[in-house]
Amino acid sequence: MTQYEAVIGLEVHVELKTKTKIFCSCSTEFGKAPNSHVCPVCLGLPGVLPVLNKKVVEFGIRTGLALHADINRRNKFDRKNYYYPDLSKNFQTSQFDQPICEHGALTIDLENGEKKVIGITRAHMEEDAGKLVHNGNTISVSSGSLVDYNRVGVPLLEIVSEPDMRSAEEAKAYVDELKKIIQYIDVSDCKMEEGSLRVDANVSVRPIGQIDFGTRTETKNMNSFKALQRAIDYEIARQIETIESGGTIVQETRTWDDERGMTLSMRSKEEAHDYRYFPEPDLAPIVISEEWIEEVRRQLPELPQSRRSRLVLEDGLSLYDATVITDTLAMADFYDRVRMGIDDAKSIANLLMGDLSKSLNELGSSVDESNIDPAHVIELIRLMYDGTISGKIAKQVIPEMLKTGDMPKKIVEEKGLVQMSDEGALEAIVLSVLQENPQSVEDYKNGKDKAVGFLVGQVMKATKGKANPGLVNKLLKEKLSLN
Ligand SMILES: [Zn+2]
Repeated sequence: MTQYEAVIGLEVHVELKTKTKIFCSCSTEFGKAPNSHVCPVCLGLPGVLPVLNKKVVEFGIRTGLALHADINRRNKFDRKNYYYPDLSKNFQTSQFDQPICEHGALTIDLENGEKKVIGITRAHMEEDAGKLVHNGNTISVSSGSLVDYNRVGVPLLEIVSEPDMRSAEEAKAYVDELKKIIQYIDVSDCKMEEGSLRVDANVSVRPIGQIDFGTRTETKNMNSFKALQRAIDYEIARQIETIESGGTIVQETRTWDDERGMTLSMRSKEEAHDYRYFPEPDLAPIVISEEWIEEVRRQLPELPQSRRSRLVLEDGLSLYDATVITDTLAMADFYDRVRMGIDDAKSIANLLMGDLSKSLNELGSSVDESNIDPAHVIELIRLMYDGTISGKIAKQVIPEMLKTGDMPKKIVEEKGLVQMSDEGALEAIVLSVLQENPQSVEDYKNGKDKAVGFLVGQVMKATKGKANPGLVNKLLKEKLSLN
């Protein structure tokens, strides 16, 4: 039986987070009343002229630099002509043969620990189209459609990869890494559910060993990472099955139906010449100076890949921990700042990934939006180091700290949470716990070491979690061996 391999390339549309649209001063705010953010320019009424938003070009340069791409010092806009009701101008202002960025690369971490470089063909600036709202769940069962032009003219960057991916997992890893980079450099929110990150997947299959690509399809309409993976897996299986049963793959655009878990044919695939691209006569070519590129380069933060490596190689964290800590720029920066005050990377990572993240999740907050700064966490870890509080008490301090913004020392003093380390007082409690639990004492004598854990738990309960756990262990073992 023939063995096949998949060939996958992705087109990622990123909605840039500028305040205003790409060619007019309408707001880009999401979720407003339909057709409330429109003007003659973005509606393409006769007699108007577009004015390019400089921030869009800056974001394009920033993204290009972060993706190790060449920035075209001279690039231009073109008209991509097509008719569809979501685009009142009947053409989309985009970039064709001279995009702002070309020849980039992005490195992904594979599950087996290896790294793989995925080529980036190009990234170009363009305007978004409007949104059709169908009456009924999907267009196929809809009795009518309405159009909302608020999104028309919202700036997009379309990032096109080389067909370098070979599985749905690699595709997911690519989008995941790209999303992180984009969020680090702060050019987009990348919310797949709100449509500020949209991924189209070009998928083909070929017998292993064959050099020529098979015929590809383009699948759209995946609204989550899970949908992306499912759609690619479905498309790979469908194409292999078609070929194996003697059929041929048709070059076409398909849509992912998440409910039915399948891709459906939408339309035959257009070629570039179908769009009759021509240079946009209303906009001058864009000329980017060396100074501007250097200025943008200076403002770039350290990127996720480099942060992860630093946390693994210099701080000794596992790749897993480093990946979780660097998932957002806010958490990665927070970690770095705590690290300046505490020389124990693993303890910091455990606290940030464990109790702190848990409390933040419960509040639906992130570390940069919260009431606390790195000084809070530094003080908290120091209180644990000097034995003032136990890890168990820290779990009580963290939510309080997030709620009030008070420093941990103040919370510990006000709530009387200081750890009990008075040996005499603890000894009395240990003795009474032993008296109340003769069965556990018996179990311990019969070689069940686990019984100690239960007894420690009883002492902690009696002291409301305040007993110094090390001291409790020591006292319990002493008393048990005397018994
Ligand atoms: Zn407008």
